Amino acid sequence: LKVKKVEHLGIAVPNLEEAARFYQQALGLPLEGVENIEGQKVRVGFFPVGESRIELVEPAAPDSPISKFLEKKGAGLHHICLEVEDLNAALEELKAKGVRLIDSEPRPGAHGYNIAFVHPQSASGVLLELTEKQKSSQ
Ligand code: ZN
Repeated sequence: LKVKKVEHLGIAVPNLEEAARFYQQALGLPLEGVENIEGQKVRVGFFPVGESRIELVEPAAPDSPISKFLEKKGAGLHHICLEVEDLNAALEELKAKGVRLIDSEPRPGAHGYNIAFVHPQSASGVLLELTEKQKSSQ
């Protein structure tokens, strides 16, 4: 398993444009790649920061997992995303190591890249997203 870098940090927000104002105006970061991810019922936007990015995640439906997160905890850090070299192989290796996964198979994330989530129980309470720079075939 090869982890290449922190791809992005995901921040849950009730309103993407409202939250984006701080990053745009106070920090001078450009907002890029605003996109609806149907399968996850979220709308996301990214701010490039060096080799990584900050992702704002807004719920796109009342039953979105982000709606539940906001209800329980309010806006804030939601997940950390690590880029790995081969997501399928990484998931197989993690399964073999007894790591608890939310997604046992890769699914399409932002920009059509494959992603999978690791359960916070296996990662010291942090929701971990794994991605590879490989377009999903779906
Ligand atoms: Zn993410």
